[in-house]
Amino acid sequence: MKTGMFADIPVDVGVVYEGERIRKPKMHVELGGPKVSEKFELLRIISPEKVEDGKIVVLGSDVQRLEEGSSIPFGIYVEVAGKELEVDMEGVMERRLHDFCNYIEGFMHLNQRNSIWLRMDKKAVSKGLTLEIVGKVLQRLFKSEMPIIEKIQITFLTDPKEVEKRYQDAIQIYEKRDARVRGMTDKDVDVFYGCTLCQSFAPTHVCVISPQRYANCGAISWLDGRAAAKVDPKGPIFAIDKDDCLDVEAGEYEGANRVISEKTLGEIERVQLYTAFGYPHTSCGCFEATTFYVPEVDGMGIVHRDFTDSTPSGLSFGAIADSTAGGRQVDGFHGLSLEYMKSPKFLQVDNGWNRIVWLPLQLKDVMKEYIPKELFDKIPTEKDVQTVEELKDFLKDNNHPIVERWKEEEVITSMSQTVTPEHTQTATPPLPQTGILQEISQPSTVTPSLTKTETFTFTFKNVKISAERLIIRKKEG
Ligand code: SF4
Repeated sequence: MKTGMFADIPVDVGVVYEGERIRKPKMHVELGGPKVSEKFELLRIISPEKVEDGKIVVLGSDVQRLEEGSSIPFGIYVEVAGKELEVDMEGVMERRLHDFCNYIEGFMHLNQRNSIWLRMDKKAVSKGLTLEIVGKVLQRLFKSEMPIIEKIQITFLTDPKEVEKRYQDAIQIYEKRDARVRGMTDKDVDVFYGCTLCQSFAPTHVCVISPQRYANCGAISWLDGRAAAKVDPKGPIFAIDKDDCLDVEAGEYEGANRVISEKTLGEIERVQLYTAFGYPHTSCGCFEATTFYVPEVDGMGIVHRDFTDSTPSGLSFGAIADSTAGGRQVDGFHGLSLEYMKSPKFLQVDNGWNRIVWLPLQLKDVMKEYIPKELFDKIPTEKDVQTVEELKDFLKDNNHPIVERWKEEEVITSMSQTVTPEHTQTATPPLPQTGILQEISQPSTVTPSLTKTETFTFTFKNVKISAERLIIRKKEG
């Protein structure tokens, strides 16, 4: 017999279920996700008299009555009240929906805000799990983890008309929250905030949240971090003293390095906030968008979650995200939030927007105000180019600033090898540390049959090579 605070819940609840994935064949229903355009989760702090503690409402059908295998527009609206609650805490408390939902056996929650993607599995539904029960679990978790919440009521929306009605309000509230931090600068503050909420999925990931580098998930700003750390300084969101600045341009701080090293048990030792190369900020899996390096043009594309087609490199968002996520630092493959793309510090070491060579049309529209005017028409979308060759031509024809870079570096990724005759040499190529190229680092044996010293240039572009031997023969003539 089950005991404890979830004894009456028909499925198990616990951190052990975080990271549980529900694949399509096992799924009863999908709530939100990439197939529907309108979905959101929103938490508001409101006056106590407007909150009926413990109330749960489902506007539309609960899961048992939803068609099996369907994907539906979805909303979660949480209203909380408490004397000590401040409006700055809304974003952080809202973000806890992610881990709290994932504690529930047979229930999966991905992403945040208007990108949420939830699935409930068939087994959980057959055991009796409903949205109403999810609501009960969430209310208990919120109250036990954040005792300053005195009252809480939750509304789930599965009726598409109800979702549509409230969707725009949610978007406006997100925008209002984000706008509060714009204008603040990293150099004006002594403290950044760290977040380890995603370590259950990406154990070597720590978000460093500064005024000018919003968290990867796009759900937690510096102000949100400050509010969360004030309420629960030992919680997953905490203050980071900046200490000495080691590199102003790259955004590297002694205090951030120290904390990251501690929180990742030494796995990550350095992070530079404003670059996608060298020591980039790690990428968990919740990022709203990610860059992908295109070696043929020495630029980066950016693709966001809602883009379901292939990028010019032939890869989808999912495939690129797999190369990026997991708490790693992969050159050129860099998870980020849309808000960071609006920051004046956006990839400033890498040349900022001048290094961006491709964007999905939808994302380009969202960023219209933030892309330098003279560059806007020079960045192609899926409507302009489909392949890397087309991308290259477009950039050339439209005189994208990256073209100047090509002139400076004719060969993008190259290695030179001087081969001395009549002996066998083991060569370990000094390849750049890009995720794709790392796999070519096995030593290869070169047995030359040449009679004089010659220099060769090898150029590798976006390849994976596995070879036991490399034989180089001089071409006659
Ligand atoms: S992406 Fe970063 S800020 Fe957002 S929940 Fe994960 S660790 Fe926290």
